[in-house]
Amino acid sequence: NSIVAIVGRPNVGKSTLFNRLVQRREAIVDSVSGVTRDRHYGKSDWNGKEFSVIDTGGYITGSDDIFEGEIRKQVNLAIEEADLIVFVVNVEDGITPMDAEVAKLLRKVKKPIFTVVNKVDNAMREPDAIEFYNLGLGEYYTIASINGSGTGDLLDALAEKMPEPEEVDLDSEKEALPRFAVVGRPNAGKSSFINSLIGQDRNIVTNIAGTTRDSIDTKYNRFGFDFNLVDTAGIRKKSRVKEDLEFYSVMRAVRSIEYSDVIVLVVDATRGFEGQDQNIFWLAEKNRKGIVILINKWDLVEKETNTMRDFEAMVRKQIEPFTDVPIVFISALTKQRLFKAIETAVEVFQKRKTKIQTSKFNETMLEIIKNSPPPAIKGKFVKIKYCMQLPTQTPQFVFFCNLPQYVKDSYRRFLENKLRDIYDFSGVPITIYFRQK
Ligand code: GDP
Repeated sequence: NSIVAIVGRPNVGKSTLFNRLVQRREAIVDSVSGVTRDRHYGKSDWNGKEFSVIDTGGYITGSDDIFEGEIRKQVNLAIEEADLIVFVVNVEDGITPMDAEVAKLLRKVKKPIFTVVNKVDNAMREPDAIEFYNLGLGEYYTIASINGSGTGDLLDALAEKMPEPEEVDLDSEKEALPRFAVVGRPNAGKSSFINSLIGQDRNIVTNIAGTTRDSIDTKYNRFGFDFNLVDTAGIRKKSRVKEDLEFYSVMRAVRSIEYSDVIVLVVDATRGFEGQDQNIFWLAEKNRKGIVILINKWDLVEKETNTMRDFEAMVRKQIEPFTDVPIVFISALTKQRLFKAIETAVEVFQKRKTKIQTSKFNETMLEIIKNSPPPAIKGKFVKIKYCMQLPTQTPQFVFFCNLPQYVKDSYRRFLENKLRDIYDFSGVPITIYFRQK
């Protein structure tokens, strides 16, 4: 899937455009959790192309007295990590010196750049946009992100530059090795974990160039497990942009998450589980990847009887509603439980490929539904007649019923919890649909 980054100076309308680009999908997905989150990252699709959108501006605070250096970093990172770049300017302001700076950086870039002139909310404004040709970036798109006009054309143009979706070969997928991405905040201990894990000897079997120029899967054998570590720009390669700000670690995480099966989220025990950990967790969940949480630096934590239990409970609270995730306490330094960490990640990988036989699934689930049917809404009774797992890469289930629109989220969650009780999907996001037969 392609990554689209939105760049530009503050207050040009980046976040409004971001919301426009991701809106339709987000609304569906998030009605489930009901949680509001930082809206800087989203998934969307258009004309059959799935993509991620990152609003780089969302991570920069102090919008008015923004440093030029920050913008430069933001743009450079977008250039490194994204496949397509949307550069937003504001027709009301014309070309500002900072716009010119950004354009200068973008002119050197080989990736597709889409200059978007915002706030062109009536035809009278169109001629004003012409001056943006002077940015030297070629054609531009005019939009009014406040009411959405022009976003359809922009999306058409973006989708056209995205590669065709790859055909997923489910059979070969079964044989493939787990692909793990080690992600987390700066200084959580990601590199220490990888180094302790693969050591100096580095049992590298092969080096396979990944699907993009930036990503490399490296195959390792450790503790008797074969797996690939997804090595995207930044894990080994020294990047032009230093990974010193939270935002950069998220941006880095985005691509490695896209290319992995299981996300190994490394958390610094001495700092607790914070907003940024939550963000990365949510990225993984939203991408329906397997997840294992490693609480690292456990050697530094003073322990009493319930320290581990309390810590674990605190983390689970932070990741609601998807709390069915393995949590392993490790120390990259003393090499405590590294085996357990990898073993757990491999287990999650395998659970994610679980295929439940349709007849057994119906037997089990229809019994549960019979005992606890969906509550009637406005006198309407929902009757679920049949259910099955879809032949998708990640566990997805469809329940056929007469009135799918009358099934509440709470009932969906009820079924998900039952499913999780019966079948072990620890660390695996699952999706449940209701459809009319
Ligand atoms: P990264 O930015 O996530 O790759 O973090 P690093 O691997 O560079 O680790 C950041 C700092 O934490 C370094 O000084 C490490 O030595 C230290 N560190 C990492 N893991 C552990 C651990 O398990 N225990 C202790 N005590 N220190 C650790």
